[in-house]
This record gives sequence, structure tokens and C-alpha cells, in this order.
Amino acid sequence: MTHPGARTVRGRIGPNAIIQTAAALRERVGIARADALVAAATGRALGTWPETMVDESEVIRLVHAVHDDLDPALREAVMRDAGVRTAEYLLANRIPRAAQRVLRLLPGALSLRLLLLAISRHTWTFAGTAHVEIRYGATASLSMHGCPMCRGLRATAPDCHYVAATLEHLAQRLADAAYEVVETSCEAQGASACRFEFRREWGSPVTPTTVGLLLTHPYAMG
Ligand SMILES: [Zn+2]
Repeated sequence: MTHPGARTVRGRIGPNAIIQTAAALRERVGIARADALVAAATGRALGTWPETMVDESEVIRLVHAVHDDLDPALREAVMRDAGVRTAEYLLANRIPRAAQRVLRLLPGALSLRLLLLAISRHTWTFAGTAHVEIRYGATASLSMHGCPMCRGLRATAPDCHYVAATLEHLAQRLADAAYEVVETSCEAQGASACRFEFRREWGSPVTPTTVGLLLTHPYAMG
């Protein structure tokens, strides 16, 4: 809720939310329709993508356009693909190779904790004005209050496929291929936050020793 006289806070989001959604759209609905949809939603010239951080309102408009234009199954496929592409971009360009090698060598649960620690230091790149909360309990989770990927949308099932797919692909590539990320509640359903749970069929539970290791570990990714 905005208080009278409160300063308007404008959030910024990394350009991948637009670039990779555009790429996923081109793949599935064709270049002409994809570019027209992105241009109409973002106000950018046809076929040109941002190179720096964008106002979160631009991302929100694109999400709404995809929501309005595509049927649910296609929309989910596009947004999941965009999420995977974003994770691949981060692996190729943003997460140091040395850190990736170490994460792949460590036990999955510890790698996931280190990955989440790195994510917690970079929420400014993907959350905009959302508040991000990360929990390291028996089941790790990431919650977003004010999630930009479903703001203003109504849905009967969790709808933030882009976020779920990005987190899942990073966890699978860096921690353990057995990880799945499930959005267990979504603001589009009326929940108080979008909550993404990291699940693994098997694996050792995370112990207090692991937490100590995490906090004293010499190589952080941030
Ligand atoms: Zn959501």
C-alpha cells in the first residue's frame, strides 16, 4: 500500500527478463509475432532488445502481454524456456567458472546453500521492488513479496514459470541434477508471496555444520 506523499519507488530489473523472453517467443510463435508482441508491450523498436537494466514496469507489461496473447500451455512453455535461457546466460557470463567448478564438486545440499547465498546478494538484478526472503530449513525456499513476474495477474495455479525455471536450472546445473523447483504459492492466486521450493527426491539433510561451513567459506560468488 502506498502512503500519501510517499516517494514512488521504481524498481530496475536485468534485461534478461526481456531478452530471453523475446528469444523464447521467437522460437515458439515465430519472429514476426514475437517481435511485434515485445515491441507493443515494452515500447521498444521492433526487434531491438535492452542492453542494460530496465524499469520493472517494462517487464510487467511484457508478462501481461504474454499472458493475454498466448494460451496457458504455450505461455508456460515460453516462460519456462525463457527462464532456462536466463540461467544459461548467467552460467556463461555472470557466475565465475571457478565458483561453478567448486559448486559442482561439493555435496548438492551445500552447493545449493552457496548458490542461494550468491542469489541473495544479487536480488537487485532480478527482483525490482520485490522483497526476497530465502530460507535454509529442511527444504530450502525463496519467496518474493511483490513479485514482478505476476503483478496484477490472476491465476488459478502458480504462474511464475520464468522464476521457477531459472532457479531450477541453476540448481540442477550447479548443485544437483535431481533438484526440482516448485512454486508452492503465488501472488497471482492471492497468496501473500510467491514461494519457490527446492525439492530433491533424495540427499542428505542440511546440518548446522553445513551452515557454519557456508558462513566461513572463503570463496563467495558475490
Ligand atoms: Zn508467482
